[in-house]
Amino acid sequence: MTKVRFAPSPTGFIHIGNARPALMNYLFARAHDGKFVLRFDDTDLERSKAEYADAILTDLNWLGIEPDEVHRQSERTALYDAARDRLIAGGRLYACYETPDELDRRRSRARALGRPPIYDRAALDLTDEDRARLEAEGRTPHWRFKLKGDPVIFTDLIRGEQTVNTASMSDPVLIRGDGSYLYTLPSVVDDIDLGITHVIRGEDHISNTGVQIEIIEALGGAVPQFAHHNLLTGAGGQGLSKRLGSLGIGELRSDGFEAMAVALMAVLTGTSLPVEPYPSLYALAERFDLTTVSHGPARYDPAELESLNARILHEVDYADLAERLKALGVENEAVWLALRANITRLPQIAEWLPLINGPVLPVIADEDRALISAARDALPAEPWDESTWGAWTGDLKQATGRKGKGLFLPLRMALTGRPDGPELKSLLPLLGRKACLDRLT
Ligand code: GLU
Repeated sequence: MTKVRFAPSPTGFIHIGNARPALMNYLFARAHDGKFVLRFDDTDLERSKAEYADAILTDLNWLGIEPDEVHRQSERTALYDAARDRLIAGGRLYACYETPDELDRRRSRARALGRPPIYDRAALDLTDEDRARLEAEGRTPHWRFKLKGDPVIFTDLIRGEQTVNTASMSDPVLIRGDGSYLYTLPSVVDDIDLGITHVIRGEDHISNTGVQIEIIEALGGAVPQFAHHNLLTGAGGQGLSKRLGSLGIGELRSDGFEAMAVALMAVLTGTSLPVEPYPSLYALAERFDLTTVSHGPARYDPAELESLNARILHEVDYADLAERLKALGVENEAVWLALRANITRLPQIAEWLPLINGPVLPVIADEDRALISAARDALPAEPWDESTWGAWTGDLKQATGRKGKGLFLPLRMALTGRPDGPELKSLLPLLGRKACLDRLT
């Protein structure tokens, strides 16, 4: 059974760059009839907040993601403690007493001697008496995982064969001096315990993978398959910061973007698939494949989101929007069809509604007075439909000799008060004869 996880730290809100691994995991689970686990990496009790976890779940739901399971690391400490004890018993986790200052000094010394600034494992030589003495001095140990030093080789489902040379890394600290766990051990223990088969995440985690595979093996767990995707960046290639407000999923929602547009941008940017509308995440899951993720950067372009959003809006069935449109004051399909080409986001419809419902301040230039008066007199009798505009302006052309912009712009300015906007042939039947007579004065 395929099982994947998205593992955010609830220390802030999620942005479109965080939605990328969430969705890639979700699509992968759906395509393989698997399960999608949402795991809150909330071991940092000070920075993790329940309201962030709630907001992340709300944002994921809005994007169309319904987790099959939700777990919180803060509730799973006993598992991590058991793993810690096993690693200590197996000689793979060892107590270290160096202060940050001491470590700094050693690193500088190593650099001065032209050696790599990796931890020298001095703590491995400590005797029981040394440890007792250090603890009597008031020092509490932090714990390091003893790397084997052999290169770790794995086949990444996106990037192909990868080698992490752990010999050039310091033994990683898994437990802080205050006994709290850093990200690595809980993550590995959960991946084993929850039966995660595929770890799909950003390429910033590639070097962690070497360490994690070693720990999984030390704990006797099954090593999952890994896939590291390119990260969404800004136009100039810079990383998307958590603080970039306009990229927050919550902001994009309140700015009126369609969830599907945001989801598609999050997934399809930086892949070989075109950024285009899909009817559902299920349809996208059928098409999306990890091998389509490119190895180059994934540059996110807000203008592309805007145009994708517009494309989706212009193609979607009225029935799918009816409820939200009603809340925005649009009660029938003809109004929607007449106005939709002018908007890129749904709430913008409110700017155009007054063209139909009023109030409109007709704009009539002095030199157009005669034309507008003739237009008023020539208004056909109702009923009106989409052919009314053509018939009416055809007559006016004959009668006044005006044509093209010289004819249409004054009519538009009088009927709508502005030089741009919806097609008048669709607008006319929605206005009706009475409103037109009122505006053509
Ligand atoms: N909490 C980690 C992060 O947000 C999870 C990384 C992972 O997927 O293993 O970076």
